[in-house]
Amino acid sequence: MKGEANMKIRRVLIIDGYNDEPGGLGVPPYIDVYPRYIAGALWYADKDIKIDYVTVDSFRSSKSWIRKASLYDLVVVIAGVVVPGRYLGGRPALPEEVELWGRLIEGPFKVLAGPAARWGMGLEGGRPAVPPYKFQRAGYHVLVKGDVEQYFYELAKYGEERASPHSIRRDYKLTNVVSVLGARIVRQHPNYGRNLIAEIETYRGCARWVSGGCSFCVEPLRGRPVQRDPRGVVEEVKALYEEGVRNFRLGRQADILVYGSKELGEKEWPRPSPEALEKVFRGIRAEAPNLETLHIDNVNPGTIVRYPEESRRSLKIIIKYHTPGDVAAMGLESADPKVTKINNLNTTPEEAIEAIKIVNEVGRIREDSGLPHLLPGINFILGLPGESKKTYRMNREFLEEILKRDLLVRRVNVRRLMIIPLTRVSRMKVSFDKKLRLLASSFIWWVRNYFEVEMLKRVAPPGTTLKNLWVETCLNNLCYARSPGSYPLVVALKGSFARGTLIKKAVVRGIRTGRSVLAEPVEVYEHCM
Ligand code: SF4
Repeated sequence: MKGEANMKIRRVLIIDGYNDEPGGLGVPPYIDVYPRYIAGALWYADKDIKIDYVTVDSFRSSKSWIRKASLYDLVVVIAGVVVPGRYLGGRPALPEEVELWGRLIEGPFKVLAGPAARWGMGLEGGRPAVPPYKFQRAGYHVLVKGDVEQYFYELAKYGEERASPHSIRRDYKLTNVVSVLGARIVRQHPNYGRNLIAEIETYRGCARWVSGGCSFCVEPLRGRPVQRDPRGVVEEVKALYEEGVRNFRLGRQADILVYGSKELGEKEWPRPSPEALEKVFRGIRAEAPNLETLHIDNVNPGTIVRYPEESRRSLKIIIKYHTPGDVAAMGLESADPKVTKINNLNTTPEEAIEAIKIVNEVGRIREDSGLPHLLPGINFILGLPGESKKTYRMNREFLEEILKRDLLVRRVNVRRLMIIPLTRVSRMKVSFDKKLRLLASSFIWWVRNYFEVEMLKRVAPPGTTLKNLWVETCLNNLCYARSPGSYPLVVALKGSFARGTLIKKAVVRGIRTGRSVLAEPVEVYEHCM
């Protein structure tokens, strides 16, 4: 540490290595809560602290960063992908990079925060995650296992000896204050002023912690859910909006439908409270009147089938206030009842079909030939204990049934199991042998090359209008753009556009792959970088 435990912190560097968790995403264009809460907590303790924020993509692009980092009093590394995906907007920190920085940055007090510190990290399903102790050995002085705002506030206010890295919030009082103060850190994000999207937290934990939750998931490890009052959420959105953020996702919770339920924390299946949901959505719209994106993320299909009426009302409220092209991500994980039982998963395939039907009833409407308002997304995890050859037949039959019934889903997310230390699956027998691995690969191929293509033809047929597409990368005479939001479509545009160009309006001309469409820009575009 540069100086002793209680030395005054004047200069802080936050290196955002990005996080991806069941409830929370921090890979650009997203900025998750960690850098915002950490900055806000430090400024709450001492408003004169100077904080620099750098993304891992910028950090690794210049060797001089390691030398510069050594000049700070405190270096905070945020990292941890625990539900790996494919990323277009940035390359999350690798475990070996996090270890290397711990070793190479000499001088400052070094703190690791995010899922990597709490549960470990990986980048690929099918392999165990790297456990947190490896990072401790790599030279980090502290690994924050509790809630970041608690630790960093105590660190800056009372010094290292009195700051507990295990401190867990009992309510959102401190979070509400620091989230507002920390909003201005967004100005240092490379996507600021363009497609930056802020992940917003409404509660912590999962209602199913009561029964232990799904075997592979880290959310139940957070303990009894703690909810944030609508005012706190709205005030944070207002602060971010005033700083210039125009895209928001209420994505930091296990199931948006049960936000505000009095039974959350008490029952495994709380009854949704459409009134509480309306309060928060209405408040956001009032404080951020010209926002461009307001999306959601996780919805538990088990909630929808248990409370179809309250869920329909809640979904209608979301549609009333959100922006179209939204996705309600649902974790089915496996269509095999044996796997569901062994791993204490959410729902049976029959229930999931029913939930998908209800979301379709309410959400598949379109405006001005655009994308449907709100569609379900489906998550599968391959390699869970209890799988057999039959599992893969059932997974496929489940998706075929969706096509047969002419239901729409926006995307299917198929991941291989990543074993995170402390989750229940880490203590279970997992045998993902060669035969199953081959079946898994063939299932993934079928989903990508058949199911998703068929589905995309229905979700985004030629003539569909797409708005606010930001060019992210170009390759072989095609540029790829996405609009900010939940699981946005990848849109391939012929021609050459600078990265950061905004295509205000484009029209779909055809399907390119199961995940991308070919589109033609039809309205003025602006060069924004
Ligand atoms: S329902 Fe299962 S997968 Fe979803 S957050 Fe809870 S434990 Fe995790």
